[in-house]
Amino acid sequence: MTKGTFPIDKFGSINTPFYYYDVELLEKTLNTIKAEAGKYGYEAHYAVKANANASLLKIISAAGLGADCVSGGEVEAAINAGFPASKIVFAGVGKTDWEINLALDHDIFCFNAESLPELEVINELAGAKGKKARIELRVNPNVDAHTHHYITTGLNENKFGFSLDDLNDVIDKVIALKNLEFVGLHFHIGSQITDLSCYEDLCVKINELQDELEKRGIQLKNINIGGGLGINYEHPNHMPIADFESYFRLFNKHLKLRAGQTLHCEPGRSVVAQCGSLITKVTYVKKGKEKQFAIVDAGMTDLIRPALYDAYHRIENISSDLAEQTYDVVGPICESSDVFQKGCSLNETKRGDYLALRSAGAYGEIMASRYNLRKLPGSVLSTEI
Ligand SMILES: *Cc1c(COP(=O)(O)O)cnc(C)c1O
Repeated sequence: MTKGTFPIDKFGSINTPFYYYDVELLEKTLNTIKAEAGKYGYEAHYAVKANANASLLKIISAAGLGADCVSGGEVEAAINAGFPASKIVFAGVGKTDWEINLALDHDIFCFNAESLPELEVINELAGAKGKKARIELRVNPNVDAHTHHYITTGLNENKFGFSLDDLNDVIDKVIALKNLEFVGLHFHIGSQITDLSCYEDLCVKINELQDELEKRGIQLKNINIGGGLGINYEHPNHMPIADFESYFRLFNKHLKLRAGQTLHCEPGRSVVAQCGSLITKVTYVKKGKEKQFAIVDAGMTDLIRPALYDAYHRIENISSDLAEQTYDVVGPICESSDVFQKGCSLNETKRGDYLALRSAGAYGEIMASRYNLRKLPGSVLSTEI
């Protein structure tokens, strides 16, 4: 049985629950992204919302990726972690004035704008500073990402971006606003996408759109395809690095970039998910009438994905090699949804054993809350212990 590479003998001095990050895997993943995107001159911006742990952000910025931010707080975190402002993009449907001003003051690479009123506000605030704001328009391409409905973003029914029907008018408007510089189009169709043919559909849409815009004499500097590449939650050891080779090759094959155009992407989950595990200790093993429960000291406040999205995380008992038994692995929070996994096969488990919830590096630590007045989970890098 594979126990991964957990230095369990060093965990004793660390309060559980905590996130454990395998820096070697993160660096291998970053190198793969740089190499595969680099083949075609593509630029990757890490989606900070997946995990804004300051130590991880520094490693990611040192690897040369840019940052994709969705709030002023994330823009600040990216700058503090060493991302050059010239590689920061800023998306989101509800950017407030202070967030826009912050981004303008730093001269970030561009705003990914999502509505007409937002364009007017950015124009006004940029004018007040005597600046020109670079703008990519987020287009909702009406492509189905075949993923969970909470994480599908590219359909007409979603709140994100401009619809294709409105795009011509919106472009006229951006060009007319004199403190804006129109630099490209932005697309993000959803998250945890494992069926790469969705991205082929996206390429077809972008190609059609570019043909139309070209007829109007409009040339774009940038095409930004967003993020969304999925990872293998079932088999984290089997495929620890997402298939970036196929992903970028697909765009090279199907997307017709024009001369001088740069393709940008915004991977989040696929960068950090597999390097992170939530480490938790078993508080009690409770035998019920029909099943047994492993009650652990982590809860939905530490990792909310199972409760929020019905998400699966592979769970391993890294303290035990005994024969496997079946457990419901549950947290201590007073909510029925505080269940990590029902019917989970674990090596026979006792109080005090460490469990690892795998593939938890993305949308894990960053979504932790203090509900029930719990302490926030800690974090440890493999290089720190
Ligand atoms: C969430 C998000 C991403 C990252 O998505 P992943 O599925 O984590 O790769 C990229 N771009 C935008 C605009 C996003 O909202």
